[in-house]
Amino acid sequence: MRRRMRAKATGVRHAVIGGAGFAGLTAAVALLQRGWSVTLCERASSVRSEGYNIAFHENGLRSLEVLGLVERALDGAQRMPSRQTRDRHGRVTADFDASYRVFRVSRPHLAGVLAEEAQRLGAEFRFGAEVAGALAEGVLQLADGTTLRGDLVIAADGVNSKLRDAMQLLASRTIPGEGATRFIMPRVPGELGQDDDGDTGFEFWSGRRRFLYRPATATTAYCTVTCPQNDLSGRQVPIDAATWMRSFPTVAHVIERATREANWAEARWAQYQIIRLKRWSRGRVAVVGDAAHAMVPNLGQGANCAIMNALALALTVADAPDIEAALREWERSERPIIEHAQRWSSLFTAPLAWPEWLWSIVVPRAGRMAWVQRQMTRPARYEPKGYAALGKTG
Ligand SMILES: Cc1cc2nc3c(=O)[nH]c(=O)nc-3n(C[C@H](O)[C@H](O)[C@H](O)COP(=O)(O)OP(=O)(O)OC[C@H]3O[C@@H](n4cnc5c(N)ncnc54)[C@H](O)[C@@H]3O)c2cc1C
Repeated sequence: MRRRMRAKATGVRHAVIGGAGFAGLTAAVALLQRGWSVTLCERASSVRSEGYNIAFHENGLRSLEVLGLVERALDGAQRMPSRQTRDRHGRVTADFDASYRVFRVSRPHLAGVLAEEAQRLGAEFRFGAEVAGALAEGVLQLADGTTLRGDLVIAADGVNSKLRDAMQLLASRTIPGEGATRFIMPRVPGELGQDDDGDTGFEFWSGRRRFLYRPATATTAYCTVTCPQNDLSGRQVPIDAATWMRSFPTVAHVIERATREANWAEARWAQYQIIRLKRWSRGRVAVVGDAAHAMVPNLGQGANCAIMNALALALTVADAPDIEAALREWERSERPIIEHAQRWSSLFTAPLAWPEWLWSIVVPRAGRMAWVQRQMTRPARYEPKGYAALGKTG
């Protein structure tokens, strides 16, 4: 209350943000850079992200350029301009060279860069602060009964968002039939053949299973195995090597090595969720990131979209005289591209539900179609709000 009154007195507008993940931190930095004050409420005891890395595409990179953080974010990142899909026999079914930038970036590093910048610009971090609800007039409620007022409240508390649910904004939560186990293992350069040049990520398909292998650093590979929920041997952690080696005989040596050398203590089965909202805001409360638009990770766009959309949110409201109208304008402008990313990330593996003989015919042909490639890469090629003002071409 005191903070809101002070904001009114000084003309500085104040945002209260629930969740210090990629979306919350991005919104915080963008608002702070435009003269707002920000309080971030995070239930964990620090800003931390799980230890894996993520695919970071042109749209995420451009968003960080708008914030002036791209060089720092890319420190230590690994370029991954090409991606190859192969079948169980090792035959190349799709070969994809991105005409835009793609990197693999460490999650903790990226979160750390955003958090440092927020801190430098004067954000107030409240750790161990569990958010529980919000009121449309611009009030965030903590689980301990504390209330915080802001000109804007941002719900960025992830896929199981309490703030979103308190505002009754959820339209649908879809649990797809597929899930994944991620692990990191030492990399043996060239172990997947001559195309394994350190720049190429590989994706093997067999029946309804996939094995993904991406060079993460010069010495490590980031791997994922995906399979249907009801594939009980497929979702075992650590992986049941014998069954995965049978599915992927051409990379059996890598799978066998994984059983001995991967970081199984940190690995766990991850269940995907797809979130859709009735609307992205109510009054002065906006929902962004996985809380608003979680998607399956097949295009590697969840965090990219969380960052891109949190930036758009902040830039749309920053100087707007009417915050509620600005939030409606933000949704009108950004929802189509975010929903495109959600749709196409699901479509990417939809053929796995078909018999293998059928997808092995259809997928390589579809993958070569320019129209399909354009749809798949549209979110990555999207120009984030604020980018045009940098004077760079899209
Ligand atoms: C297997 C897998 C692989 C993925 N790979 C990629 C990829 O390669 N590229 C990509 O772009 N995306 C990827 N993603 C998606 C990406 O992880 C998410 O889209 C991204 O983390 C969303 O960011 P966020 O800030 O919205 O949510 P989160 O990262 O979930 O952050 C939410 C924050 O809110 C906090 N919080 C939660 N509840 C509360 C509460 N009640 N009170 C206070 N704080 C709270 C959490 O502690 C957290 O800090 C992947 C996801 C999965 C599951």
